[in-house]
Amino acid sequence: MKFGGALMENASGIERVSKLIEEFSCEPLVVVVSALGKTTNALEKLYHKYLDGESIEEGFFEIKKNHISVTLDLFSTMDDELSSNLDKLFEQLLDALNTEYSNRYEAYDCIVSFGEELSSCIIFHFLKKLKISSRLINAKCLIITDSNFTDASVNWEYTSKTITSRVIPALDIGEVVITQGFIGADGLGRSTTLGREGSDFTAAILGNILDADEVTIWKNVPGLMNADPARYTSAIKIDSLSYHEAIELAYYGASVIHPKTIQPLKQKGIPLLVRPYYDTSLSPTSITNDMGNDSTTSSIIVKDNQVLLSISTKNLSFIAEENLKQIFDVFSRNKIHINLMQNSAVSFSVCFNEDDIKLESLISELKGAFSLKYNSGLQLITIRHYSNKLENELIGNKKVYLVQKSRVTVQLLVKE
Ligand code: ASP
Ligand code: MG
Repeated sequence: MKFGGALMENASGIERVSKLIEEFSCEPLVVVVSALGKTTNALEKLYHKYLDGESIEEGFFEIKKNHISVTLDLFSTMDDELSSNLDKLFEQLLDALNTEYSNRYEAYDCIVSFGEELSSCIIFHFLKKLKISSRLINAKCLIITDSNFTDASVNWEYTSKTITSRVIPALDIGEVVITQGFIGADGLGRSTTLGREGSDFTAAILGNILDADEVTIWKNVPGLMNADPARYTSAIKIDSLSYHEAIELAYYGASVIHPKTIQPLKQKGIPLLVRPYYDTSLSPTSITNDMGNDSTTSSIIVKDNQVLLSISTKNLSFIAEENLKQIFDVFSRNKIHINLMQNSAVSFSVCFNEDDIKLESLISELKGAFSLKYNSGLQLITIRHYSNKLENELIGNKKVYLVQKSRVTVQLLVKE
């Protein structure tokens, strides 16, 4: 089971989550937790301050204060062991913010990984208080990755060994295993992360290696929705869909599932359930091999803060394979994921998430060889199983910068 940060924003959320763990603990159970609430965003801000050489004090104490306040709400008296474990983590975070790293991505992973370290520590102690027999196993000892910081790839051979040797014995004696999502370690034991929202992927890795009967992602919405309910009040729950369709949705940015989550489950035919944590009597969205329901519902995925960069050669010669190779190299070196691309004779247009630091470095690497034009503040709307009516409705009065269509999917890059 995986519990995301939105479910654990405060003490009552953690209590609810713990009750669910208790309810399902009669069978072998592994629990993957994210950072509390918006902690990862707060740590990202702290990381930017670290990079810019600004004071990290205020941000650090804010994070500390939040965690202490949730903990005090949960425990009438703070247990000595918990308080010393939390103190240790805060000291380590402070050290991490005062360390020099080989590169900024390594710094990011080391700093940002503390969100999950802190949440798992609090939840583990709370389960102990509820007398649920459990064991906290640090994901840095389970999920072994390469050193591609911020988007590390799993070393399946090592990870399989560590999970088998450490998790199974605990499950065998009836303990609930708690671990952190999103984080891992490379061969040298340095913290790595699997990409934002990567906790789902952690649950899928564990599910695959342990041959789980099912993997459940608990949500504060009824299941996998066909659109973000915060944006479209008409959003509805999808009852079932295939792994293939889920991969497509995740690829286009449906934030409910991390894109890498499905593959390890599909490989072993393990169902993925997306369930509302506030009511276990409601039926979950179930993601399996069954494709029967895939085309019955249109799904809308919206990504804000998109940049469209148009790249052309300086002498307006054709954009050919050699240029593309050079362009892709620059994107890959700067770890920029491309959301959409399109080319014409003399220009190549690329859409990606806005990130000032990465954009600056991208532009400085490309501007020697190419002419560049860019627009920011755009919105990328993807519709799966679209109809022209829905497409027009969503465009409304927006200015359209780029359209890409296939039989099932339309992508629109627009501005309000
Ligand atoms: N806490 C991490 C994030 O917010 C990982 C996750 O939630 O899945 O990106
Ligand atoms: Mg999260």
